[in-house]
Amino acid sequence: MEKIHHSEKGFRNPQLNPTNHGFKDIIKWQLNKPDDVPKYSQVADVLPVVKPDFLLMENSGNGIPVTWFGHSSLLLNIDGIKILTDPMFSERCSPVQWAGPKRYTICPIDISELPDVDIVVISHNHYDHLDKKTVKYLGNNVKWFVPLGLKKWFNNMGITNVTELDWWERKPYKNLSIVCTPAQHFSGRGLFDRNKTLWSSWAILGEKKRFWFSGDTGYSSDFKKISSELGPFDLAAIPIGAYEPRWFMNPMHVTPDQAIQIHLDIKSKQTIGIHWGTFILTDEPIFEPLELLDKYKIEMNIPPGEFVTLKHGETRIFE
Ligand code: ZN
Ligand code: ZN
Repeated sequence: MEKIHHSEKGFRNPQLNPTNHGFKDIIKWQLNKPDDVPKYSQVADVLPVVKPDFLLMENSGNGIPVTWFGHSSLLLNIDGIKILTDPMFSERCSPVQWAGPKRYTICPIDISELPDVDIVVISHNHYDHLDKKTVKYLGNNVKWFVPLGLKKWFNNMGITNVTELDWWERKPYKNLSIVCTPAQHFSGRGLFDRNKTLWSSWAILGEKKRFWFSGDTGYSSDFKKISSELGPFDLAAIPIGAYEPRWFMNPMHVTPDQAIQIHLDIKSKQTIGIHWGTFILTDEPIFEPLELLDKYKIEMNIPPGEFVTLKHGETRIFE
């Protein structure tokens, strides 16, 4: 297997120059915020939140039941196995709970209300995707699938029920096959661990249904390859938010039209737009991802039901 994403300093994106935006660019971004950048007080509680229907989650008869808890946290039932993606049930995505981006749409449940889960896939170690409090709560009661380098972080907390995979590696879980697939992104939780652990997307392949979770990603040619190796998919989850300003975010986060392009590349029958409406991380107005998704669906001839978003907490069966 090619290991062009491995380097001496850590991991890298094969399709990008290694000149990632540095500290200077973060300052430039922060000093040049547009006037309409969302403010917490304006957007808190404006989006509807509903209670999940966990009874519906049991019914994997002909479809894939899904609940969206906000951001990239989904609960799915694929061929009778319950899967969580990037579970985040805390108030803030930050190293501390007294500062950092705070939820402007409340979490639809307290984590204690979560039904039993079999496996969890983690895309990368950013705070909005890997939440320590949530991980501690689920602990060894679930089977964790993580990209290369992250197992140690779990082990340090006493969590040992962890399988660590490189891109294109796969492991069975009961009747499913869990495949670690590429994404174009980066990692790091502090000042000195940039790209020391891998980032990924995940394919979850059942006998009846196939699902793909993008994690965080910029646009690349990876998705056509994933589709030709593992697709087509019945359902995908792809980010539609956290993309402005483009000069800074373009390599690492897709816009809604690029998300639709990934949906086409990956050959998914249906896709759920995620990574929006929950935390203010970037500069775009909070309703813009939905408006642009609708606009580009029309321009790109995507039927309305083929790429959808859910309400926070909503449970829906994807047939
Ligand atoms: Zn990220
Ligand atoms: Zn993210």
